[in-house]
Amino acid sequence: MKVYLDNAATTPMQPEVLETMTRVMKDTHGNPSSIHQAGRKARTIIEDARKRVAEHLQASTGEIFFTSSATESNNMIIHCSVRDLGVKRIISSPTEHPCVLNSLKSAESMFDIEVDYLSVDGQGNINLDELDQKLQDKTKKTLVSLMHGNNEIGTMLDLERVSGICVKHEALLHTDAVQSVGKYPIDLSKTKVSFLSASGHKIYGPKGIGIMYINNENMIEAFIKGGGQERKMRSGTENVYGIAGFAEALDWLVENRKMHLDKVEGLRQYFKSKVAEQGLDIHFNGNQEQNYLSNILSLCIPKSDKSDLIVFNLDIHGICASAGSACSSGVEHDSHVLAAIDAPKNRKTVRLSISHHNTKEEMDYVVEKLAALI
Ligand code: PLP
Repeated sequence: MKVYLDNAATTPMQPEVLETMTRVMKDTHGNPSSIHQAGRKARTIIEDARKRVAEHLQASTGEIFFTSSATESNNMIIHCSVRDLGVKRIISSPTEHPCVLNSLKSAESMFDIEVDYLSVDGQGNINLDELDQKLQDKTKKTLVSLMHGNNEIGTMLDLERVSGICVKHEALLHTDAVQSVGKYPIDLSKTKVSFLSASGHKIYGPKGIGIMYINNENMIEAFIKGGGQERKMRSGTENVYGIAGFAEALDWLVENRKMHLDKVEGLRQYFKSKVAEQGLDIHFNGNQEQNYLSNILSLCIPKSDKSDLIVFNLDIHGICASAGSACSSGVEHDSHVLAAIDAPKNRKTVRLSISHHNTKEEMDYVVEKLAALI
């Protein structure tokens, strides 16, 4: 049996997305910057996609920019808000994605800024009272950068509360919404956010395409400079089919949000009930009662010869899972998120991330293999 349970690393493309992209690839070769009809055709595809993305987020089209990835979006937002908006302090958390953490380090070494990390509890919840208290000090213009849903343990941020705190203290707010966008409602007309990032390949769309929402009130300037594409915000000839694919994927996920959530939440609870039924010694990292991404299950299992190589051993049985998080280099290293939540050192973590394609039979199979491995 082949079971793909690594959807937080990347999702398969939804057939509708594939169809749209292949159509655009076949029919639209013009450069969107060209003024002739072939160029205008490509431009129309991009602007239509932007409009749909903006509508889903309740933003205006002028606030949506296409990039190559959420990594690029996050790098740009962090560096450029310091460079262009006079940010002197960034408040973040130790459980952010490496593209945020490494951007923070880089910005700290390039600019005269202070970076402060909030404390997190054992489930990865950020201490928001601490945020409120830190923001009382208004001597330095501050950017708060907190992810909406954690990619390793699934814990979700109360974005509305954080937004309220930031508005109260006049701080800018950046949220990495890669794992939550489309899957959960985000209404930027109600929840004030200064910057938001998302990525195509986590929402059943293509790789190599990301978005960046920049609120009109805090426009920054380009990070990547060149021919002035994306209204001078992000140069480089646009990834027309990637952009079309992103919008199609978001359309699909928003339209099918309830089906998707019901399916992944159902499978999550089914998996947990089977684990309990079998009496397996598995703990789950991150929030379990509320404020969690339904599709992410972070399993904390006893250490043994077999569990030490758990991802490898599951792979032998056709199961694609992930160590704490996706490791870009293919080399497993200790997870900063597990360290931040003080996960037990005598146990091993494996992440299963579910999609609507998974089935109860697959969950039974995984439980059976896990039982043999732990
Ligand atoms: N932020 C989070 C929370 C992620 O999970 C990922 C991908 O793993 C990224 C950012 C990076 O996204 P991309 O692959 O588009 O660069």
